[in-house]
Amino acid sequence: MPTVAELSTPYGNFMLGPRHGPGVCRVCLNPTDGWGCCYACAHGGRWLDAMVPISYSVAGEQLHHALACYKRAPQPVAREFALGLAAVLWRWLRTHERCVARTVGETSFQLVTTVPSGDRLRAGAHPLQAMVAELVEPVRDRFEPLLTRSSKAVELRCFSRERYVARRELDGRAVLLIDDTWTTGANAQSAAATLKAAGAGPVAAVVIGRHVNRGWRDNDERLRALPTPFDWERCALCARERPAQTARAG
Ligand SMILES: [Zn+2]
Ligand SMILES: [Zn+2]
Repeated sequence: MPTVAELSTPYGNFMLGPRHGPGVCRVCLNPTDGWGCCYACAHGGRWLDAMVPISYSVAGEQLHHALACYKRAPQPVAREFALGLAAVLWRWLRTHERCVARTVGETSFQLVTTVPSGDRLRAGAHPLQAMVAELVEPVRDRFEPLLTRSSKAVELRCFSRERYVARRELDGRAVLLIDDTWTTGANAQSAAATLKAAGAGPVAAVVIGRHVNRGWRDNDERLRALPTPFDWERCALCARERPAQTARAG
């Protein structure tokens, strides 16, 4: 059986860890035109207390491909991608769950859940839920499917408090919400709104890939400026406190 390090290391060869700074959305780390907040975050719901992407998912590139294949490829290919992505989540959460928790005033999250699949055709299958609940050791014992999709017709990619229904009251518990991809944030913010309405305490999201297009404005240049290889010891949160040593001294 391969180890978590063996399964996740190939992903470190192409993942790009987002960093806070000027020209990056303070909510979702989307590159912006100099604004502090991107259009989607400024105009959508804002219910998450924190959101941390592990990597950018660049359209058409390797992580984007993996995030599509673990859900849609035929077996056993899908399973292989699920194992790799689970190892990425495992390795990252083992080090950085505490960074996310600290940001929302907690030491850890009492409950961990996933954003239900947005694909109506897959309503019965939840590859992300299966991955987190079965494979991601640092959180699987705290996993609970807290949300289901509502039967209401809600416009795709738009924030709505009616997209999901909570399965139970949450009595102030801190919830870590895991999703595979963040594009506009509508799904995760809708999920957070429902969790809060059910009485959740702090709700933070960790997503594997923050979707970006390399061709937009100067994104290519900005993506090339990110630290490589992927730094497993730093996330977007703790990199602010402990910036990596740069190659050039003084
Ligand atoms: Zn944003
Ligand atoms: Zn961290």
